[in-house]
Amino acid sequence: MTKKAFVIGHPIAHSRSPLIHGNWLADLGIDGSYDAIDVPPAELVSFFDRLRQGEFVGGNVTIPHKQAVFALCDSVDPLAKTIGAVNTLTVTAGKIHGTNTDYLGFLGNLDAAGSGWDDDLQHAIVLGAGGAARAIAVALQSRGVTNIHILNRTLGTAQTFVADLGDPLKAHPIGDFPILAAKTNLVINTTSIGMHGTRFDTIDLGLLPKTALVTDIVYVPLQTPLLLDAAACGLRIVDGLGMLLHQAVPGFEAWFGVRPVVTAGLRAAIIATLEP
Ligand code: NAP
Repeated sequence: MTKKAFVIGHPIAHSRSPLIHGNWLADLGIDGSYDAIDVPPAELVSFFDRLRQGEFVGGNVTIPHKQAVFALCDSVDPLAKTIGAVNTLTVTAGKIHGTNTDYLGFLGNLDAAGSGWDDDLQHAIVLGAGGAARAIAVALQSRGVTNIHILNRTLGTAQTFVADLGDPLKAHPIGDFPILAAKTNLVINTTSIGMHGTRFDTIDLGLLPKTALVTDIVYVPLQTPLLLDAAACGLRIVDGLGMLLHQAVPGFEAWFGVRPVVTAGLRAAIIATLEP
């Protein structure tokens, strides 16, 4: 029987997930499907009723449902609770389990494209304190990074974040970048700055050690102004598309029973959809 999976969101037409999973299904010759389904908030409960009927093996959840689905799942794993968002559902015998794979996507991307990035990593700077930053902080905690600095425009949001996630996180205003830069070997932009060519006015990447790696989770454009500036400073850079590709791996494996591989061909297929 054809195994069916989905991504739900509202709107959803922009999602690249059907292309990612569709490529893997075709390459691996699996009898399965993965479709984008537009589910407005008012229809989320009835969609979950449909899920319990067994039509789907699972799927992804995106904006605006990543928090609302907590109350509708039969179980949610502890990491998704810590992160505060569910992006992946699996359905087994009518029971719906929620998890979060964004932190694995972040790690998979840096492991693949930034070899040695976490070797003896003492100080990392996370720019932003939103949902994606929480997943990334959990990822950094899991790799034993000694100091994780959360720099945010709204300091209170960073302070709440740090109180929720605990050690070794510290909250800062963005203006603390120059104080922290010289000892920092990893900078991650998790804010929406970089979309539409926007840039940080106040961040001087030239203050970082030459061994530092800069990564951006914004992937439209693929080379954000932050990454271009980092490259101009001679720093290592990793773009954010890999995080999107790698976060899809655990979901696909759970639904279809095969662990897929993020290939250069898949990456090129998605990049072709990002270009104007
Ligand atoms: P979010 O929860 O809305 O958080 C947005 C963050 O950006 C907040 O910390 C906010 O600061 C900050 N911010 C927004 N505009 C700013 C500005 N003009 N100046 C300074 N800071 C600003 O969003 P999210 O879900 O974390 O997503 C953030 C970005 O990551 C989005 O562009 C999203 O598309 C991307 N993303 C990529 C992947 C991937 O797989 N590559 C995965 C998830 C998300 P305040 O607290 O001060 O408002």
